[in-house]
Amino acid sequence: MVGTPTTGIDDAADQERLASLIIDLQSRGLKVETALEKRPGGAGPSDAGMIWVEGTAVTVPVDADFVTGTPYTLRADDDGGFGIYADGRRLADAAPADRPRYYDLTTDDGIPYWQLALLHLDSLASTVLQTCAYWGNEDQCHFCGIGLSLDSGHTVAVKRPNHLAEVAVAAKELDGAVDVTLTTGSTYGADKGALYISKCGQAVKEASGLPVEVQFEPPDDLAVIDQVADRGIDSVGIHIETFDPKVLARIAPPKYRTGIDRYFETWEYAVERFGEGQVSTYVILGMGEDPDLIIEGCQRAADIGVYPFVVPLRPVPGSLLGDASPPPADYVDRVARSVAPYLVARGLTADKVSAGCARCQACSPVGALEQALKLGESRRLIPVRPV
Ligand code: SF4
Repeated sequence: MVGTPTTGIDDAADQERLASLIIDLQSRGLKVETALEKRPGGAGPSDAGMIWVEGTAVTVPVDADFVTGTPYTLRADDDGGFGIYADGRRLADAAPADRPRYYDLTTDDGIPYWQLALLHLDSLASTVLQTCAYWGNEDQCHFCGIGLSLDSGHTVAVKRPNHLAEVAVAAKELDGAVDVTLTTGSTYGADKGALYISKCGQAVKEASGLPVEVQFEPPDDLAVIDQVADRGIDSVGIHIETFDPKVLARIAPPKYRTGIDRYFETWEYAVERFGEGQVSTYVILGMGEDPDLIIEGCQRAADIGVYPFVVPLRPVPGSLLGDASPPPADYVDRVARSVAPYLVARGLTADKVSAGCARCQACSPVGALEQALKLGESRRLIPVRPV
């Protein structure tokens, strides 16, 4: 098993403190005084160190320049464990993710398994097409690093279904992976890559039995969603990234051209096929957005059964936002504390998601807040505060 996740927290106040610590860690980063598994590049938020904090999966910035100013350090304890420290005080138990055992294996044709899929704590994750129709031109998403890891030689451009299937079996058996998250660069085709990624997902699921999420852009023809569902995929991520149209136009022009209304049409169709909570969207905070539009958008998505996966911007060095900083913790705190109670009240929480980022929650503080709410009706969280 990777790392040493514990059973978690059963006290609301402790869970509340954990959620606040996760928000601050994801904003300010973590200095590391031990070996740590990282996610250096890839699609969407990356540059992540992977740790368990009090049994909760968390990704944090560890390499960006701003991390030199963080008060937080991951340090070995005298008894052989690890802790997160700040100002000489030990704040929480922590367990860095171990190097997965399956990373030592290769396919018959000589591709190292770690070049095909990485273990994100307990979620096996792969970018099945490491190329994107928008990379390197004026349509490139500003937050994305999909081409950087390809250039670094750490991955292969196209992952084959049979290769991913054998990696998934090994990751499950050797390292305790509990689900599979597959994403893809967008293609020029009308299906935007959805059919190939779902073919990969089907092979993975049939071989390993693990639940699978696939992530893709809205296809031109919504009947493609039916084909994805018919392949037995458990969850889908169709990511708007932000509900502020001005920001969307600037940071992801193709998604802006698709239009927010088209995302909602696609989500409604997908919820019909996959069920409530099995359709999700990334919502990235810290790109200059109006927080009221974000909260409204998240609530509107939740109202139709779509899980809004709210994450702070994780600037990927070398991406178009590589020199940015994550948003301040108090900003993330206020938005997350507006969204989490709505999701709990709606019964649309991360623990109902079968697979993928919204199940994993390591890149978001919202799952930890949901748990705090469920544990104890924390007065700090209810009622919902306007930002
Ligand atoms: S939330 Fe998604 S990107 Fe983040 S660690 Fe989990 S699977 Fe990976």
